[in-house]
Amino acid sequence: MIGGNGTTRQFNSFEEAKRFFREQIKRLHPDRGGDKEEFLSLLERYQEFLERHRDQSRIKVVSKIPFTGNYFFTVLDLTVEEIALGCKKRIKVPGEEVLCPSCKGTGKRINGKSEICGFCKGTGFVEVKESFRTSYLTCPYCKGEGYVYKETCDQCKGKGKIRLHKEVEFQLPLGLKQGDIIYIPRFFANTVCDVYVEVNVIPHDYFLLDGHKLIYKCRIPFWEVILNQEISIPTLEGEERIPSNKFLSGEPIVIKGRGPFIDEYNRGDLVVQFELYIPENIPKKAKDLILKAVKIIQNS
Ligand SMILES: [Zn+2]
Ligand SMILES: [Zn+2]
Repeated sequence: MIGGNGTTRQFNSFEEAKRFFREQIKRLHPDRGGDKEEFLSLLERYQEFLERHRDQSRIKVVSKIPFTGNYFFTVLDLTVEEIALGCKKRIKVPGEEVLCPSCKGTGKRINGKSEICGFCKGTGFVEVKESFRTSYLTCPYCKGEGYVYKETCDQCKGKGKIRLHKEVEFQLPLGLKQGDIIYIPRFFANTVCDVYVEVNVIPHDYFLLDGHKLIYKCRIPFWEVILNQEISIPTLEGEERIPSNKFLSGEPIVIKGRGPFIDEYNRGDLVVQFELYIPENIPKKAKDLILKAVKIIQNS
């Protein structure tokens, strides 16, 4: 909606509004004899419009869905990697309502069971008698066919209209958490209503998102610690190898800046929590060998 000079105009899209402004600017340009004051005020309004629109068309994370107004709501399943690194997503949203192509808007199944039209008694026209003349009109009920279909159209279920779907592609905002709601303004995607998308994080096999941190729980077998072997740690960008003695203190290891992106410039940390793995049942033969090994160590 744009007000100016006492007029209000409604535009269907941002592009349409921009076109309108550009035409006005051309028309009112002082070089073409336009009024300078009027021209400057138009330029100012155009600038305001662009500013406002920039805000209206921005995808953002909101805390709740408004109580009023039309909107489309959906839950989007996202992997930990998608949330951590960001990606483009496509969602299906309701589009425009159009005449049902199967029944051409009648709501009845074409070529289904039919019945003689009761209104025109099957003639397809109705007679209108006035004092001195008689006129004939196409029957408004059967539209001149003389019969009416009785069965309901399968495609529109009798409504005569169907709603088209539209695919909207958008860049996933960074720094998302479980339950966040992404707001996609109708201006952004040229949709019939605003879109709200709730984030659902699909549980990962071994990563856990914890706010701006990525947690990896690592089980290290006791022999790898004793033998100081390198432990392989999965990260969002392939494997890292860490000497097992780094885990000896029991404190988690923090790999700085390798967690989820918080925004374009900042990244959270990857936190590796460590748990020592000792098998419950160690076969006797293995125990004896371990005892032998311990004796050698003690005597060395
Ligand atoms: Zn009829
Ligand atoms: Zn239909």
